[in-house]
Amino acid sequence: MKKDKDSKSHPDLVADWERLFRVFIRPEGQASRATLIKYMDPILYGLNDFLKTHVGITEAISLKELSNDFMDTIICENPEKKLADVISCLIKEIAPYAVNVASPYFVGHMTSAIPFFMVHLKTIVAALNQNVVKLETSKVVSVVEKQVVAKIHRMIYNKKESFYQENVQNTDTTLGVFTEGGTTANLTAMWAARNAKFPPKDGFNGIESEGVVAAYQAYDVNRCVILVSRRGHYSLKKAGGILGIGHQNIIAMDTDTKNRVDLSCLKRTIARLKKETPKTCILAIVGVAGSTETGSVDPLEKLAKIAAANNAHFHVDAAWGGPTLFSKKYKHLLNGIQLADSVTIDGHKQFYMPMSCGMLYLKEPHTLDVIAYYAHYVNRKGSVDLGIKTLSGSREANSLILDSALKIMGRKGYALLIDHGIETAAAFAKEIKKRKLFELWTAPVLNILTYRVCPPAIRKQLESASKEKRREINEKLNTVNRRIQRIQREAGYSFVSRTTLLQDNKPDDAIVVLRSVIMNPMTTIDILKEILDEQEEIFNLQLRDLLM
Ligand SMILES: *Cc1c(COP(=O)(O)O)cnc(C)c1O
Repeated sequence: MKKDKDSKSHPDLVADWERLFRVFIRPEGQASRATLIKYMDPILYGLNDFLKTHVGITEAISLKELSNDFMDTIICENPEKKLADVISCLIKEIAPYAVNVASPYFVGHMTSAIPFFMVHLKTIVAALNQNVVKLETSKVVSVVEKQVVAKIHRMIYNKKESFYQENVQNTDTTLGVFTEGGTTANLTAMWAARNAKFPPKDGFNGIESEGVVAAYQAYDVNRCVILVSRRGHYSLKKAGGILGIGHQNIIAMDTDTKNRVDLSCLKRTIARLKKETPKTCILAIVGVAGSTETGSVDPLEKLAKIAAANNAHFHVDAAWGGPTLFSKKYKHLLNGIQLADSVTIDGHKQFYMPMSCGMLYLKEPHTLDVIAYYAHYVNRKGSVDLGIKTLSGSREANSLILDSALKIMGRKGYALLIDHGIETAAAFAKEIKKRKLFELWTAPVLNILTYRVCPPAIRKQLESASKEKRREINEKLNTVNRRIQRIQREAGYSFVSRTTLLQDNKPDDAIVVLRSVIMNPMTTIDILKEILDEQEEIFNLQLRDLLM
């Protein structure tokens, strides 16, 4: 067999029909079944071993060094490796350099351990390879999706049984949709809100058809705004850009001392907009239920009232916090969520689903009619095709994973995870307060908190310092905290993240804080104490002088 000269092709391997047939394995004969299982075993259990033993974030090799091994951009003509070799390479050469997000010492981000059954469920979804964009490639899965969407809708909105009987399998109505993540769920919500504000009328075909310029003209508007607190997720800005609203018109409201939207700032802003720029349209008010940086929850009931009074769409971004509703003990923290016109929840966050899965829920079952698209070969009018009212086209059957997970875990299983996160975060906050070196910056409401290293002597100085002096001290502290986070990350034993928050909403008073997210059920208070010990040690041995 002739081969291209410079390829890395394996000497014994060729690409031909015989081999292709073998690659398209169907578990029919015993032999091919045995082959499949032989290959799946190291994937499922080899990686599991890795996750157990590989504590630490990355090996001590820099990204720059690593990238040197990934410079080759030629696709070989003939195969390079057998499947078994590829799998072994993934386990031995890639996995050790990937981030062990499942480690209980990895408490910096919203990506964490998943129950192992998720891997099995994901495998089944891949094997079935259903495409939920249309009934013709998914059949029963479309029905399952409608059912599980109604289950979560019920958890949020708790409407009457008759409402669910009428809508659960109704092909004309939509209680929720699956998306790639929270970003696209938020985008979908803003898309629907925009289209509802500028519907077709005499001489105008609607904003979706004619675009923003024509819509603003037809409705005598010169600007649309979306109001959300400073803690709002940046995906809303993307939505502003994509929808033609302009991301500078996503206006950030100040926050109160608990990082919730400051209602007086919101009311002032609305009054000012109405008085000074009467042609401004308030498209939506967004409440955050579990902000990404601090886990704070906005006063949703009050926001709902303000939105209604101003004829604005009320969206709740509960990408993170949504599953708190599972917990009998803590669901009250999300009071008012049932008033939202739409709610974002991520599956790959506190539903502990594998990457990636987001969802958007709608209070009214016809809200998404304004974003419906039809095509002749698919998504015909009156069909069950779920792709009619989604931003995505082809997509995987995430509903099968979510529905199965709900059955395996039960409400209570998820509630235990939620309660553990909230209570461990509270214990962690207590421990931070107890240690002199640390300053708790934002106390946890859910399972996220922020803090910083700030020795008592410095804290004392800050209390009486002038504005100038305070800024100077905070800048030093910012450097110290940035470095602590980096040194700890690079040591590879544990990981917290960091972010920058404004003190008293003042843009000049930026405070760098360490951020920790407690979602791994294996993360205990003892582990968190070890993480603080390490930070103390890093500070004492390497950074103390910076504050002199
Ligand atoms: C994570 C998050 C998002 C974005 O979700 P992705 O799944 O990353 O796209 C939006 N809002 C909040 C509050 C989040 O925590």
